[in-house]
Amino acid sequence: MSSSSVSTSPQTSSELNPRTTHYEFLGPPGALAITIGVPVMTYALYFGCSEQTGGCPPPIDTAVVVESLTSLSWWKSLWDTQATLLYLGWYAFTVAAWYILPGDWVDGTTMRNGGKKKYKINAFSTMLLALGITSGVLYRYGPQALTFVYDKWVNLVTAAILMSLVQALGCYLASFREGALLALGGNSGNPNYDFYIGRELNPSIGSFDLKSFNELRPGLILWVLIDIAMACEQAVRRGGSITDSMWLVLGFQSWYVFDALYNEPAIFTTMDITTDGFGFMLAVGDLAWVPFVYSLQARYLVWNQIELGPIYTALIFGVNALGYYIFRTANGEKNDFRNGRNPKNLQYMQTERGTKLLTSGWWGRCRHPNYMGDLLMALAWSLPTGFSTPITYFYVIYFAVLLIHRERRDDEACEKKYGKDWHKYKQLVPWRIIPGAIWIMDVVWTGWFDALIGFSLL
Ligand code: NDP
Repeated sequence: MSSSSVSTSPQTSSELNPRTTHYEFLGPPGALAITIGVPVMTYALYFGCSEQTGGCPPPIDTAVVVESLTSLSWWKSLWDTQATLLYLGWYAFTVAAWYILPGDWVDGTTMRNGGKKKYKINAFSTMLLALGITSGVLYRYGPQALTFVYDKWVNLVTAAILMSLVQALGCYLASFREGALLALGGNSGNPNYDFYIGRELNPSIGSFDLKSFNELRPGLILWVLIDIAMACEQAVRRGGSITDSMWLVLGFQSWYVFDALYNEPAIFTTMDITTDGFGFMLAVGDLAWVPFVYSLQARYLVWNQIELGPIYTALIFGVNALGYYIFRTANGEKNDFRNGRNPKNLQYMQTERGTKLLTSGWWGRCRHPNYMGDLLMALAWSLPTGFSTPITYFYVIYFAVLLIHRERRDDEACEKKYGKDWHKYKQLVPWRIIPGAIWIMDVVWTGWFDALIGFSLL
């Protein structure tokens, strides 16, 4: 592996890659718990909300659960060679598309070694190609051509988890080579922790950057294809049509992915790319969690064929549209600004570090307006499933916890970057995610998170 597009300034390896002195996620025990917990939860959300196991949640018979977990054949049933080959075929397709499809090369942000990575922009055309091929298959063979995804769900999950494990392990081992630029948070020396959080900042094979590739292509596009496959499964059962609730989930989530891929360069200013290393946390999140957990609502609607009617459809559509508006304009304002443009003439403050921080527009209302928009959309994706089970709301609850925690991590990172300027900004913009209204959640709850995550290694 190499980071060939990186030009390094003359610094010793320990100056460039200082030891990580602060743990996140409750340190090594927390990292181990999440490393095991994410795959377990991905399976649990399948078995805990599935037609095959009898409901959402199914009636729990402890004796049956124990019998399954202690039987070798049950464990073997998680694996399926055909599903694994299909998954590998899908992954290979996205890699081939990255190489073959044309795309501009754009610079990432300046890294702390003074270099900039170059990224090829063709995630959107990869999606169009994948959708074109899918449409051709559906046109030729009908919706039953994709229903294998519903049948082989759990085996595809296994394949995706194994892929993330292999990549995270490979990247962890490769990060020990001479000259690798490590993530500031991933060099603690504890293998379990560094493997989870990501030791190397930008593992690459030549000009192929694994982190940004995995972030946008094999998982996100697969999520849409899975939703389409669920709509096909429903259509087969209903004689060709799908419910309005399925249309909403399919439309909202496809739009979200389209938007992310269309605005591909915007991810190069996000925390995942600029700050986090590529370890098991991102690998399993990108490859297994996103496609197989985020599509739970579509899978649920396969056997719970809810018709919402025009009023509920319009209301839920409105929630998603509002969320999208906030999410897109907030991310757009920051992305423009970070790329030297300020078309709305927004106010900003100058920091001693040289960077400027927006103090009006969305970033003047709260410190993470983009998270607020994202959360509203998450709610709109669950509402079409009705209220007969809380499990289809798992995504909103999990996402709120993730974003509150992420906001804390970003706050800490910005405090390190900007020092007293960050305090000044926080005085100007006191609200974290939701301006004013939900102060209990903003102040008390995240205070609790502070206590939970904010302890030092030294
Ligand atoms: P953000 O895009 O919110 O970026 C945070 C960075 O923005 C800070 O580190 C800082 O970096 C810069 N910044 C902070 N305040 C200001 C300001 N006032 N003016 C200008 N720049 C500022 O971080 P994320 O990577 O967390 O989120 C990106 C998007 O991805 C969000 O919309 C989020 O909702 C979404 N997301 C989605 C997930 C999913 O699973 N669907 C998971 C996680 C995120 P600097 O100053 O160094 O530029």
